[in-house]
Amino acid sequence: QTTTKPPPLPSPLRFSKFFQSNMRILVTGGAGFIGSHLVDRLMENEKNEVIVVDNYFTGSKDNLKKWIGHPRFELIRHDVTETLLVEVDQIYHLACPASPIFYKYNPVKTIKTNVIGTLNMLGLAKRVGARILLTSTSEVYGDPLVHPQPESYWGNVNPIGVRSCYDEGKRVAETLMFDYHRQHGIEIRIARIFNTYGPRMNIDDGRVVSNFIAQALRDEPLTVQNPGTQTRSFCYVSDLVDGLIRLMEGEHTGPINLGNPGEFTMLELAETVKELINPEVEIKRVENTPDDPRQRKPDITKAKELLGWEPKIKLREGLPLMEEDFRLRLGSLKIAREP
Ligand code: NAD
Ligand code: UDP
Ligand code: UDP
Repeated sequence: QTTTKPPPLPSPLRFSKFFQSNMRILVTGGAGFIGSHLVDRLMENEKNEVIVVDNYFTGSKDNLKKWIGHPRFELIRHDVTETLLVEVDQIYHLACPASPIFYKYNPVKTIKTNVIGTLNMLGLAKRVGARILLTSTSEVYGDPLVHPQPESYWGNVNPIGVRSCYDEGKRVAETLMFDYHRQHGIEIRIARIFNTYGPRMNIDDGRVVSNFIAQALRDEPLTVQNPGTQTRSFCYVSDLVDGLIRLMEGEHTGPINLGNPGEFTMLELAETVKELINPEVEIKRVENTPDDPRQRKPDITKAKELLGWEPKIKLREGLPLMEEDFRLRLGSLKIAREP
């Protein structure tokens, strides 16, 4: 007697692909600064359903309030270091604190988020056949000895320093992405993001642009950390989000640098904020923190050639856009603090 084996059941993903044309997209860390702007852009497309998972460590439901209750949107409180079972077509994996004061606050948790969190999202991508994009960072170049930094540069990173939980964590996350790609055929995308700024940044998260704008609006001295000649290149968030979507939709795994090549010293940044936002404000020199990279500027040749992407918004245009949002939030914070 012969038994005929039933054909294998379609995976939930293939099933959803077969019966509906909507694209279901997971955004981890979607309640954060970059994540919430990405969600705004993804939700503009009526064919997208967006699921956000976030543990609200540095993000907030407030950033997503316009989507809560929307039929194509779902928000789940979840920590990516735990197993996640959802059926999706694409994963934008952003979950990870990005500001030094937050990622240094609990460095072991930062490592777990980068390593176990990325492993879990890759396991999920493998199970459902989803494409996954990791938001890595220019910090993988450490204190770079090559300037500007192309993707081929392997970096100069201290493996045992106070920033290592973040930069080495992201380096392992990139390794995991490529190993899942080679070993299991997962479709991967890696963005190496350079300093990004814009509305919804945490007001007190200690990053330089948010610090200077908040200080200028509060009439407090702008704190330039020594030596002040260290450089960064600042990308406005809408440009960055455009780059992330192009990378996800394109044919290249990356890593691809996404950032604005306009390079400024921290003293120049302070002078610009002073000029644009509060000409009366004082500029004060303060101690720096260990392992602070002395220079950073992306080489975006690859992004231009492979994604047809380059940033459009200059620092002088972006700062006033952020000022407006900070003014509103600082105003309402004042009201909230008053008895
Ligand atoms: P953010 O802190 O505003 O957002 C991170 C989000 O992840 C937050 O909503 C936070 O609550 C969430 N999160 C943290 N740990 C989590 C966990 N274990 N489980 C679930 N959710 C968790 O930071 P951001 O600036 O929006 O950065 C987003 C991503 O982009 C990060 O991966 C960061 O490393 C990367 N990046 C950002 C910059 C930048 O300049 N902003 C530069 C390079 C890379
Ligand atoms: N995982 C997950 N969601 C899934 C599938 C897997 O969170 O839908 C997690 C799972 O908990 C595991 C990790 O992803 O720890 C890696 O999964 P994989 O299948 O690659 O490895 P294994 O489970 O065999 O260790
Ligand atoms: N920085 C500064 N004043 C501040 C905060 C930061 O001068 O109030 C400097 C810091 O020393 C570093 C640069 O600004 O050289 C960028 O710091 P941030 O924490 O914003 O980002 P990252 O170091 O991760 O690039």
